[in-house]
Amino acid sequence: RANVRKITTSSQALDGLLGGGIETRTMTEFFGEFGSGKTQICHQVSVNVQLPPEKGGLSGKAVYIDTEGTFRWERIEAMAKAQGIDPDSAMSNIYYMRAINTDHQIAIGDDLQELINKDPAIKVVIVDSVTSHFRAEYVGRENLAVRQQKLNKHLHQLVRLAEVYELAVIVTNQVMSRPDMFYGDPTVAVGGHTLYHTPGIRVQVKKSRGNRRIARMVDAPHLPEGEVVFAITEEGIRD
Ligand code: ATP
Ligand code: MG
Repeated sequence: RANVRKITTSSQALDGLLGGGIETRTMTEFFGEFGSGKTQICHQVSVNVQLPPEKGGLSGKAVYIDTEGTFRWERIEAMAKAQGIDPDSAMSNIYYMRAINTDHQIAIGDDLQELINKDPAIKVVIVDSVTSHFRAEYVGRENLAVRQQKLNKHLHQLVRLAEVYELAVIVTNQVMSRPDMFYGDPTVAVGGHTLYHTPGIRVQVKKSRGNRRIARMVDAPHLPEGEVVFAITEEGIRD
C-alpha cells in the first residue's frame, strides 16, 4: 500500500500488532471497556506524532476532538517529558477541540478540511470517543436508524480525510466487555463488539492484571489477527 507511514504507540508489542504503528491513510478504531486505555493511547499518539521519523513519529501535529471531557494537558506534559520533547511545544502542536454534542462534533468534522489545508503539519486526527454523544442523544430502537446514518456519514468523512490528506485517523468506542450487558443497546448486542462497517483497522483493548492491557487485532484486511500485552505507566504507553 503506497505512501502509508506509521506513528509509534511507544509499545513495541502494540506497534507490532499494528504492523509497525498507527497507519496514515487509514482509520484505526480502538474499542473496549472503560479504563481499558483508549484515551491513554490517544494522548500518547498525539505526542508521538510530533517525534521525528527516526524516533517513530512524523514531525507532525495532532487534532484531538474530545467528546467526553477526559483530555488532560498534564498527561501530554508527562508523556512529552518522557519522550524528550519540550512539554510547551508538545502542547502547542495539539489542536484541542471539545465537542459538546453530535451536531457540534459533526460541525467540527466539517471544518477539519479547512484546518488541515491551513496547517498541513497535521498528521493525526483523533476522536475520543466517536460514539458517546450519538449513544446519549439517540436512545432507543426507534432512533437507531437515524443514529447509524449520522454516525456513518461522520465516520466516512473521517476516512476520506485520512485518504486525501494522507494522515492517520484514530477513533475510540467504549464497548462493554459483555455486549449483552450494554443496557439492551441493540447495535452492540447484534453487531458483536463494533458498531459499524467502515473501512479501517479495528483493535479491541481489554484490562488485564494491574497496569497491563491486552490489545487484539480484529478482522484487519492486511494484518494478521493476534493479541499482545502492553502497559499504561506514568510515562505513558509502554511494553
Ligand atoms: P473510557 O471508556 O472510560 O473512556 P478508556 O479506555 O479511555 O476508558 P483510559 O482513560 O485510557 O481508559 O485509561 C484509564 C487508565 O489509565 C486508568 O485506570 C489508569 O490505570 C491508567 N492511567 C491513567 N493515568 C495514568 C497515570 N498518570 N499513570 C499511570 N496510569 C495511568
Ligand atoms: Mg476514554
